[in-house]
Amino acid sequence: MLIRGEKGTAKSTAVRGLAELLPEIDVVEDCAFSCDPCNPETMCFACLSKYEQREPFDILKRKVRVINLPLGATEDRVVGTLDIEKAIREGIKALEPGLLAATNRGILYVDEVNLLDDHIADLLLDSAALGVNTIEREGITVRHPANFSLIGTMNPEEGELRPQLLDRFGLQVTVGELNDAKERIAIVHRINDFDKDPLAVMQAFEDQQKETAQKITNAMALLNQVEIHENLIEMIISVCQDLEIKTHRAEIATLRTSITIAALEGRTAVHVADVKAAMALTLPHRMRRLPFEPPVLNRDKLDKKSRIGKKKSKFPQTEETGEPCEGER
Ligand SMILES: [Zn+2]
Repeated sequence: MLIRGEKGTAKSTAVRGLAELLPEIDVVEDCAFSCDPCNPETMCFACLSKYEQREPFDILKRKVRVINLPLGATEDRVVGTLDIEKAIREGIKALEPGLLAATNRGILYVDEVNLLDDHIADLLLDSAALGVNTIEREGITVRHPANFSLIGTMNPEEGELRPQLLDRFGLQVTVGELNDAKERIAIVHRINDFDKDPLAVMQAFEDQQKETAQKITNAMALLNQVEIHENLIEMIISVCQDLEIKTHRAEIATLRTSITIAALEGRTAVHVADVKAAMALTLPHRMRRLPFEPPVLNRDKLDKKSRIGKKKSKFPQTEETGEPCEGER
């Protein structure tokens, strides 16, 4: 996810706060890659051989990590380094793990991602897409799991991201400053209260926090049961084509996000509203626009375009799922 917004609009605070809302995970205690002790498919080589020999793991329950990637990080620091002589003898043990190892099953946070070195950005996006980090040195290749969520923040005043990089971010949100004086006053009070007594503020929001965390946990359990009607998939494609978005990533990201939104709402069927909400996150940064033009999706236009699917179909559709209405089949 890419978060755009001017300085001081709590972008970083939002990213760091996310870990609090995610369910705790079980990790193999002495593994540098925080392997899941119950899932052999995603294990590193060492954990997998232990698993296959039915050796028991020491298991640790902990919060999802948010790892900060400093802007000046070198390739070695990010992907890890390899002792070639040791690698020939011992394989993966010769790896001095980098940030991507620590980030496995967590969140990698890059502040000012638009200022990140292009080569490092490519490395990160490759690993984020594949869930694997590959280190190649002098003909020797070592791989380890690197399954993480990449969140980048940027201030557009400090320069834009290359379009190729933009497209590789599944979602984008724009954070703006609040213009309502009452809301701004509330922020000042909240910060002041927190400075004086952080515990009291945390306790005041504990129930709300738990409720949101539970909603996310429920959504994760429901995710694989969510179905999307073919009409809605056609609608996604049609809107992307009308907006002249060439990349297939836009459609895939919209589909996945629509399903996720439905799961978050506790439903197993995707509604039209879920797709529209997803599009607001997945399309603006992929649309062609003029220099200095902010990436915004025009809601009225989208409403018109989302009726395209209906025109194509011989059947009228319900607002919710795009399915033919009862009695009109
Ligand atoms: Zn492992």
